[in-house]
Amino acid sequence: MVDVVVVGGGAAGAAVFGELIGRADAGCVHWVTGQGRPGRGVAYSTGEDHHLLNVRAAGMGLFDGPGSVFARHPAAGDAEPHQFVPRSRYGDYVQARLAERSCAARQAGRCFELHAATAVDAWRDGGRWRVRLEGGATLEADEVVLATGALEPRPLRNASSEALASGAYVVDPWQTREPSAPPGRVLVVGTGLTAVDVLLSAARRWPGARLQAVSRHGRLPFIHREYPAPPWPGQAALNEALLGTTRVRERLRALRWAMDGAPDWQAIVDGMRPVMVPLWQGLPVAERRRFLRHLRWLWEAARHRMPPASANVLQRLQAEGRLRIAAARVLGVDGKGPLQVRIRARGAEGESSIEADLVVQATGLEMSPATATGLLRQLLDRGLAAPDPLRLGLAGTEDGRLTGPGGGIQPGLSAIGPLLRGTLWECTAMPEIRAAARALAERLLPGD
Ligand SMILES: Cc1cc2nc3c(=O)[nH]c(=O)nc-3n(C[C@H](O)[C@H](O)[C@H](O)COP(=O)(O)OP(=O)(O)OC[C@H]3O[C@@H](n4cnc5c(N)ncnc54)[C@H](O)[C@@H]3O)c2cc1C
Repeated sequence: MVDVVVVGGGAAGAAVFGELIGRADAGCVHWVTGQGRPGRGVAYSTGEDHHLLNVRAAGMGLFDGPGSVFARHPAAGDAEPHQFVPRSRYGDYVQARLAERSCAARQAGRCFELHAATAVDAWRDGGRWRVRLEGGATLEADEVVLATGALEPRPLRNASSEALASGAYVVDPWQTREPSAPPGRVLVVGTGLTAVDVLLSAARRWPGARLQAVSRHGRLPFIHREYPAPPWPGQAALNEALLGTTRVRERLRALRWAMDGAPDWQAIVDGMRPVMVPLWQGLPVAERRRFLRHLRWLWEAARHRMPPASANVLQRLQAEGRLRIAAARVLGVDGKGPLQVRIRARGAEGESSIEADLVVQATGLEMSPATATGLLRQLLDRGLAAPDPLRLGLAGTEDGRLTGPGGGIQPGLSAIGPLLRGTLWECTAMPEIRAAARALAERLLPGD
């Protein structure tokens, strides 16, 4: 019998917890869920209906295997499998699936416990793990799985302390409090999927506001087609060619060549999904760095596309002159409201300044272990975990085992989701998470 502690109450934690309690050979499974409703995490806690999934309903099951299709669950409403459903409904689905699994596990006499607390420390003692919770309780287990998601966002380095204290600068885009007066000018830093949601919310909440979003490249994510394109017949050969080289430049050339000859580039990008981890792991660190420096934004925009409905609203706002997207680098944020945002537009020599009543930072997942606090800080400081070479998360193996500072596998310590970004690269969306959760459960509890 193996006792397991799963730390993290988001959808990744839910997938692992559900897989574990579904297996007969588990000892006791403890799920430390932190704050908030278990299973929802950052992505599925939103109550705003215009915050849509960016994966079609057909791809959003929580558990691996048949019978776990979100599109057929009542929580999806009458959504068709190709549609992009509000994320809040997916949160309902996760909670419903967890309730079913918990009920079945209870009937089967399995041991599991939920702890609505934050884990603050973990260490090994006599061959077992101890996990200390805020409040003092300590759990004991053979295996610990970290499903703690991304780190708390940090303010941009060049935002002044006066600006940060002003109340007009929002560091966490999912925690935007209502300002005392509706802002007339809102500036969003970032143009990725988070920025899309922030802009959609701002347009609704403050219909009179002028909106602007800036990022170095000034590009919104590409737009999903209404219906998915059929798989491209040349995909297997392309994937093989990509795996055959460890140079980013050559991979890019092969990809361009394929896209020039194919009817739909989106099918090609989607068809790379099964080989993304070996593609990433096959790159030497210097090539990974090159990819991050030159191609990351383009890959993210093409791989993690926005739903057509979100794009339609943004296009309308742009056509009405309410929304501007600019390619610019933010050099500083000063003042105490309105804030002065100093920027350098792409290709320009000098600086210019934008005045904004509200600045919202939407610069993507914060993963740098340098900024880790709490449990992760403790694990790093104790030498039980180590940053990956690119400082995108924690170092580990393909199957989610964490490695220590010397590169050796840390017995009984695994991770899932965004923490493994540097190790696996594409590991944050539900299709990858549910496969990883199944594989983790099979590895930790092999007897079923
Ligand atoms: C806004 C947004 C939209 C997304 N949309 C999609 C989508 O449409 N489709 C898709 O496939 N993927 C989407 N994703 C990707 C998303 O990461 C995953 O789908 C999924 O939510 C996995 O999240 P997670 O559980 O790893 O992390 P999180 O959701 O961040 O959950 C981690 C949880 O762990 C808790 N925690 C952290 N530290 C501790 C601790 N020490 N003790 C206890 N608890 C702790 C946190 O409070 C948090 O609740 C989206 C992500 C975001 C941020």
